[in-house]
Amino acid sequence: MSIIGVDVGGTHIKTGIVQDDLKVRFRDERPTPAAAQDIVNAVYEMVNMAWRRAPGAAVGISFAGTWDNEGCVTANQLRLKKAPVRQMLRDVFGRPVPVENDAVCALMAEHRYGALKGCETGILLTLGTGIGGGVIAHGQPLRGHQGLHGELGHMITHPGGHPCGCGQKGCWEQYAAARALGLLAAPLTTRELVDRVRKGERSDVWQQYICEVTVGIQSLLMIFMPEVIAIGGGLSNAGSIVVDTIREAVEKTSAYRTYCPFTRVVPASFRNDAGIIGAVALAEGAI
Ligand SMILES: [Zn+2]
Repeated sequence: MSIIGVDVGGTHIKTGIVQDDLKVRFRDERPTPAAAQDIVNAVYEMVNMAWRRAPGAAVGISFAGTWDNEGCVTANQLRLKKAPVRQMLRDVFGRPVPVENDAVCALMAEHRYGALKGCETGILLTLGTGIGGGVIAHGQPLRGHQGLHGELGHMITHPGGHPCGCGQKGCWEQYAAARALGLLAAPLTTRELVDRVRKGERSDVWQQYICEVTVGIQSLLMIFMPEVIAIGGGLSNAGSIVVDTIREAVEKTSAYRTYCPFTRVVPASFRNDAGIIGAVALAEGAI
């Protein structure tokens, strides 16, 4: 069976046709337009192109931003404020199309096909520009009031610390996202730093960064008692050393040793294609 996955991100819209082997074929990509109607029109055109290859295939859409229960999106990076995107998609497609927040889609991809498959309680952490991901509870993405998804990266780990785009100070992602490592590593690039660590070089910067990641994971362990924590995002592309070092540090904490010795810290299964595969998981759940 073929499903068309659409990933609407801050800079690009990507589509791909995905079959049962979860390989992404016939990719298409274009810059994300500035207005909600133009984004919706671009998605429709790109899906129509994909339908030429896979006539009648189901469609799912992963879409950056905060979604409310009415299907309206607020997304700073797309300059959208309460844009009624779900209804706009319905109007242009002539029927409802499954669409969901990108972090929830990535979480669903891992839960349906990847590192969180089959787990009742699990967490996806994506270490990128910020910290994204989400929580699986009772085998479902955990949601807050009005369907809102939680923001793990905005847990405060440094009271009164660096200001964050969310309005708080000292959020975890200001210290533990890949971007934070990039700032710490300068003048080395993140990759150069990770390469040196892989060769066995001792690095205080690296140890400091791993401490920042671990302090947040300790709280997540105590709150959720997860079976699995899957780590993805841009930083995990740097290789297994990243997840291996985080796992070693987590396993030394009392949260792990006393409360959650069962928790497995593993790499996420989907990296650059998490959005498209997440959209496919969403579409498959809706079929
Ligand atoms: Zn924040």
